[in-house]
Amino acid sequence: MRDFATDHSALALNTGSLGHNLDGCGAGWPPEKVIDACAERGFGAITFWRREIGNRGIEIGNRVRAAGMDVCGLARSPFLVGPLAPPSRSEVMDDFHASIDKAADLGATVLTIVVGGIVEGSHSMRESLRQVTEIVAAAVPWASRAGVRLALEPLNPVYGGDRSCLVTVRDAVNICEAINDPAVTMAVDVYHVWWDLSLADELKRAGPERIAGYHLCDWLADTTDVLLDRGMMGDGVADLQSIRRAVEEAGYEGYCEVEIFSANNWWKRDPGEVLDVMVERFRSVC
Ligand code: ZN
Repeated sequence: MRDFATDHSALALNTGSLGHNLDGCGAGWPPEKVIDACAERGFGAITFWRREIGNRGIEIGNRVRAAGMDVCGLARSPFLVGPLAPPSRSEVMDDFHASIDKAADLGATVLTIVVGGIVEGSHSMRESLRQVTEIVAAAVPWASRAGVRLALEPLNPVYGGDRSCLVTVRDAVNICEAINDPAVTMAVDVYHVWWDLSLADELKRAGPERIAGYHLCDWLADTTDVLLDRGMMGDGVADLQSIRRAVEEAGYEGYCEVEIFSANNWWKRDPGEVLDVMVERFRSVC
């Protein structure tokens, strides 16, 4: 397992940790200020959200690399199925392709996919996942041409209804195997997998080529909001070292991206303080 106690070059910021995934949240720093603050603190990479990039993907990506870091990802695809997805399949595909193009502009090699909830009226995880598989497979040629890997992110089962019918690493690996293309991978997020005793075995089944991201935060035992009350690493109940061991023993050697949605705590603090705490916790508890 990699030793982060004295080296945090594998640390990446997901700008959602500063509230950049939602309008009106966080301190509202422009990307340039985020880039400078991360570079000063020795972060290795940044993942951005589509809403903060606008049409400046190429410029922002170049700026990150000029500061000595990588763009490790873009969050995220549209919801592909379920109640929050665009109303028609063609609109889903159009926006899916647009998100791939935006990742390519940034020079991000990975686009996170949040698949969306149960297909309305279906009452069926199986049918919903079948449609997800079909849609992701249909986007593969576009992604391959753009040089962007698609990372299916299984979400915690609490989101099964509306945000993600993909709730286990097992099902993510199954979709990867069904499509069987190097462009289709998965991302592992502590918030969504911390409870899962089959994690290590399923990640071994996935193999290194299919793990394209590792997201860090913590699960607060007394959480007040399952969407916007994520914990800073070390403040919750997740076994962070064991989870990382499982990810790394499956062959993952990439960035560890801190992704903390925290409307009433971390988003209210000065971003500089939040980044400092991330570095300290990354070195001490992750
Ligand atoms: Zn995540």
